[in-house]
Amino acid sequence: MRVVLIGPPGAGKGTQAKLLQERFAVPHISTGDMLREAGRAETSVGAEVRRYLESGQLVPDQTIIRAVEERLRHVDCGGGFVLDGFPRTVAQAEALAGFLGNGHALDGALYIRVPRAELVRRLAGRRVCERCGTMFHLVFDPPATPGVCSRCGGTLVQRADDSEVTVQRRLDVYDRETGPVIEWYRQAGQLREADGMGTRDQVFGRVAELVQ
Ligand code: AMP
Repeated sequence: MRVVLIGPPGAGKGTQAKLLQERFAVPHISTGDMLREAGRAETSVGAEVRRYLESGQLVPDQTIIRAVEERLRHVDCGGGFVLDGFPRTVAQAEALAGFLGNGHALDGALYIRVPRAELVRRLAGRRVCERCGTMFHLVFDPPATPGVCSRCGGTLVQRADDSEVTVQRRLDVYDRETGPVIEWYRQAGQLREADGMGTRDQVFGRVAELVQ
């Protein structure tokens, strides 16, 4: 199974990708997670990556294309993958089609649709465990003890790019850069759409049906 998940920040791509990983035993590759990891390094490259993440701007195409190409060559991708957060520009979509090549083409691009007002609500309440990365939501999925991860006891924090100003910028960047990617896959006949409203399991029901 070779699938890309497309959708605005807050649509639930990460959550759905993790569920797909469990159900279909393929690796979940999140470029956001890859970049957050790179941004933890106390080096000049780490600092540069952090600047992009914290401002909500996209890192340059060539950088992320090279990183994804390398990641997809890894042996665990032999049976397929779920890409989350890539491609985010038409140049990235073209590069992906190029390096997947003949015989390894994508099975499809899955677009998770959520209205903008709902995205802002979701992102503003999102909290993440700084130790294990588990996501919570102050309203929809609160931890048992406020501020404490129910899984590992770590501290819950707000991602720097989930602050209100950065959220609006990320949504603008998404409309401008990633909107055309949706059209690109539609033109190629590879786009499938799922309604992203409802509970995690309701959305997964729709997503899994499309994937199957
Ligand atoms: P995400 O966790 O997918 O929302 O990504 C967080 C941030 O990582 C984005 O706001 C971008 O700054 C950066 N990022 C993630 N994926 C890409 C990509 N495919 N191209 C460029 N920047 C990306």
